Amino acid sequence: MGDLSEHFSHKDFICRCNSCRGKEFKIHLGLVGILEEITEHFKKPVKIVAGFWCDDYHESLKREKRSPHNTGKAVHISMEEVPPSEIFKFVEKIPEVNGLGLYPKEGFVHIDTRPKEKRALWIKEGNNYSALTEEKRKYYNL
Ligand SMILES: [Zn+2]
Repeated sequence: MGDLSEHFSHKDFICRCNSCRGKEFKIHLGLVGILEEITEHFKKPVKIVAGFWCDDYHESLKREKRSPHNTGKAVHISMEEVPPSEIFKFVEKIPEVNGLGLYPKEGFVHIDTRPKEKRALWIKEGNNYSALTEEKRKYYNL
């Protein structure tokens, strides 16, 4: 039993940068519920590759826009023996997930609970983020 839900604890989501050393922390409980749903479906532990990003870490990435990681509404996840494309396909059916990205090279899936009107699906190819088209769905088996 975790301290947030059955399978998840605060420490799973802390920022891993050297600046805050994980002291800062924010996580959207709706997102924890979604992770429980994924655990239940695949009957396997979900690995949180990245969770909350503090302001310093976010700044170090030199992103223009604020990321949902910055407000505790995003995670990167992977699972042993489950390809990221399978995680992607399942998570796409969860209505609260409005940001969903496949990172085939890195081997993880980005999930966030941004507002519905900002819904976005993408694939990271090399250093580029591409919108998910029908062509790309076929290519990546989504
Ligand atoms: Zn940090």
